This record gives sequence, structure tokens and C-alpha cells, in this order.
Amino acid sequence: MVNPAFAARRALPSVDRLLNSPGCVALIELYGRLLTTALIREFLQRYRDQPLTENADQPFDEAAFFHQCAQALATRTAPSLKPVFNLSGTVLHTNLGRALMPNSVAQAVMTAMTRPVNLEFDLDGGARGERDSHVEKWITQLAGGDGAVVVNNNAAAVYLALNSLGAKKEVLVSRGELIEIGGSFRIPDIMKRAGVKLVEVGTTNRTHLKDFAEAITPRTAAIMKVHTSNYIVQGFTSSVPEAELAQLAHENGFVFIIDLGSGTLVNLEDFGLPHEPSPKEALELGADLVTFSGDKLLGGPQSGLMVGTQAFINKIRKNPMKRALRVDKMTLAALDALLRLYTNPDKLREEVTTIKLLTRPYQDIKLQAERLCPIVQSIIGNTALAEVVDTGSQIGSGSLPIDSLPSAGIAIRSHGKTKTSFADKVSRAFRRLPVPVIGRIKDGAFILDLRCLDHETQWVEQLQQLALYAK
Ligand SMILES: *Cc1c(COP(=O)(O)O)cnc(C)c1O
Repeated sequence: MVNPAFAARRALPSVDRLLNSPGCVALIELYGRLLTTALIREFLQRYRDQPLTENADQPFDEAAFFHQCAQALATRTAPSLKPVFNLSGTVLHTNLGRALMPNSVAQAVMTAMTRPVNLEFDLDGGARGERDSHVEKWITQLAGGDGAVVVNNNAAAVYLALNSLGAKKEVLVSRGELIEIGGSFRIPDIMKRAGVKLVEVGTTNRTHLKDFAEAITPRTAAIMKVHTSNYIVQGFTSSVPEAELAQLAHENGFVFIIDLGSGTLVNLEDFGLPHEPSPKEALELGADLVTFSGDKLLGGPQSGLMVGTQAFINKIRKNPMKRALRVDKMTLAALDALLRLYTNPDKLREEVTTIKLLTRPYQDIKLQAERLCPIVQSIIGNTALAEVVDTGSQIGSGSLPIDSLPSAGIAIRSHGKTKTSFADKVSRAFRRLPVPVIGRIKDGAFILDLRCLDHETQWVEQLQQLALYAK
């Protein structure tokens, strides 16, 4: 007698038969024949490899088989890069993609992506154009300088500026500014790669003008000042004012470069935010070249912007590495659309998403927290406690590291003794929602800072799926 398990196994349908079965039509339509065939083959093999247990004699269930295939195909083809809720309290979160942009900017990018554009095409003369020209006028109008160059990010801008203006020569930097930004951007390393010799000047906490003066040699090409974005030296400190460094550089005939990091185009104090130096101020203080990021306080796409004196801008533009570091049409379309918004300062708060989020009133956030807290409590049940808390949001991306913006949110903690392991568990459950929610853990509680909560309805709806007590 034939073992019924073997008989069932022999009765497995062929790949061809399954592909031609009506249950497969929808799968092929959605995922294509190639992926579907590969998956069917893989799953059939799994069936064959199953140990001969008792239910191996069950007849092949085609509907169940296709259901499994559909689920696997959906999971495997889901985009890896997807939206999340940034309730971390850090507005410009590098790991969550930094600045968010308004729809008008996204629309401009969409057009550049789906239609031919005059990227490097001079429509008047019909000759070859310069891609940066689309934004140069706006950048110089808003940030100052005779000209502007745009590259992939500010790290690239610093690299290109140093390589163009100081290769094989010496560049003086204060020891207090030899910083590392997240993601392994270190000033000394960038300088080495740019082919310039770093000359460290002064000490970590105090650097004086005479330190710079004494460091000058016939090989000196530039002084660079780096905005110490993400840390602060406090106490017995001294640094040389920009204007004095500019004067020293110019008396000796070399370049004064400032890496501003964030570089806002507006006076942040007008918006009730802490002061942050602008490229315009830096140029007014005597810098010949200023570099800053496009996706930090500016609120635009990832890019590095350089503004400065024409001769230096020309030199940078002619560097062959500019070609390697140039931005694409999407970035230029986004920058163009964004910079136009800056020409109407009265509307910035409404229209530039980053400024809108940074200036969102505490009262507004608090009311939202009070409204949403009971919903969260009802979802997590009574084994844990949800409460409205005051928080401090960070601007992020190295801006103004110690200042925090008054904000509010919801803290979730276990009843009784606060346990970090519980906060970890809550954090994981929120990260596993269809649109993952990113909060932060502080003092044993999981905290959702609501400053950047968008799509509130979607957020509330998907909370129903929170699996707090699942493994
Ligand atoms: C952020 C930052 C950089 C790097 O800028 P990216 O746009 O992230 O490449 C360089 N210098 C300073 C001072 C910064 O703050």
C-alpha cells in the first residue's frame, strides 16, 4: 500500500499548472510573472521539504497556497524606504531624512522628474547652460555673495572649497573647531582627503588672534572657521571673532572660509527662536566663502550651498570634482521652489515646513496632547499609564545643541516601578505599526513628542493595531 503522505506529496501540482490556475491571475497582474513564478517554485519546494508528519496526507489546498504567496509577495515587494511618524522630539532628524518640504516644492520635483527640463540648456541662445544658474540668483539674493555653487551636501561643499582653494597648501583651523558631525564627517579627515594640510591653531578651549598670526607660513592658503554645530565649549573659553580672522587673512592675501553648518536665511529671532548665524552675516563679517546645508534650517533638499566672492566661486566651479559632486534636477527643482518661498518673509511660517514645525506654539501642541492622551490610554489598557508631559524639542542636525523648544507630548510608563525594559517594549510596538512611530525613551518612559505629528487621523486609526503585549 502506498503511504498516504507520499501519495499527497506526489499529488502536489506543477508550477505550470499553478501559474495557469485562475487563483494566480491576480498575483501575476500585481507582481509580474517573474516574481510570482519564483515564489511559487520556492513555496512548492517548501511543501516538498516538509517532514512527513500526520497532516502531510492532507490534500493540497490551492486557495491557502495562493493566500500564502500573496502575503509573501506583498511583504517582499513593500518599499524599504517608507513614511514614519517623527515623534522623537528632534525636528531635523538626520536618520529620519531631515527637512520636510511643502507640497509646492514636491510638485516642482515631480515636474522635473516626469518631464524634460532646461537643466543645462540656455533657452535664449540654445547653447549649453549651467545647472546651478537656476538657483544662483535666489541664493545670492537671500544669502549674499557674488555667486553660488550647489553640490550634493555640505560635507561635499567643504571638501570642494578646500580642494579648490587650498590643495597642497596649509589651512589654519582652531583646535576648538576640529569637530566630528554624525555619520563620520570629521573636519581633519575631510581636509586630508581634500589634499590640504591642516594646521591646528590654539587650544581646545582658547584660541587667540596671535595663535593664528604665528601659524602663518608662506604655504598658508586659508583660514577656516567651523561652526561648532553639535557641541559647545563652556567656561574658560575664547575664540577669535570672524572680523579679526577676515582681516588677518586679507592682510596676508589668503582666503577666509566659514563652514556654517546649518546656515539659516532668516533671522530666527524674528520667529522666537534662538539666534543662529546666517551666511549673510558671515559674508558681512568678511568671509570670502561660506558653506551651509540645504536640508538643515533652510528646510530644503539634501544639498550643500556655497556663496562668496566671484573669483573663488569661479575657481570652485572649474574644479573637476564639481562634476562628481553636482546635484541632480530634482534637487535643483526643490531648491528653486523652496527659495522662492523665502522671498515672502510674511508667509514663511505657513509655507516653509521646517519653520512651521520649529515655531509651532507650545499651547497648540499641549492641547493636541491632551486630546490624544485618553485615546492612547484606552489602547494600552490599564496595565500602563499614559500622561501628558512637557518636553523640550531639539532643532536637530547639529543646530543650537543646548537650546530646546518648549513642547508637549505623551509619556507611556508602566504602573509602579518604572522599567526601561517596559519602555523598550512600548517603543518596539510603536515602531512595528504600519506607519512606524518613532518616539524616544527617557527616565524609563516612552515619550511621544507631538510637535511634528502630521496626519493625525491616520496616526489615531492605526493605533488600534498596536500590539503592546505581543512577543
Ligand atoms: C551638518 C554639518 C556639516 C555636514 O553637512 P551635510 O549637509 O550633512 O553634509 C558640515 N559642517 C557643519 C558645521 C555642520 O553642522
